[in-house]
Amino acid sequence: MRCHYCGSYQTRVIDSRVIQDGTQRRRRYHCDDCGKRFNTAERFAGAAKQKMDEILELLASAEKAVQAIREIVQ
Ligand SMILES: [Zn+2]
Repeated sequence: MRCHYCGSYQTRVIDSRVIQDGTQRRRRYHCDDCGKRFNTAERFAGAAKQKMDEILELLASAEKAVQAIREIVQ
């Protein structure tokens, strides 16, 4: 991760924790060049969950389509 202050790549993760019911990971970095600390928050599970909701929605409508076809065939 690039330092937010000086742009150096000489940074280290000093803390990493998952927050907000597992939808975000917050990482704390320390810059070896300027000695400052900064945080980053990644919304990793949030994006995956959103995609999953989309897929489930598609499956639900596919199920309705199958049901409609069954009614026609019967
Ligand atoms: Zn720095």
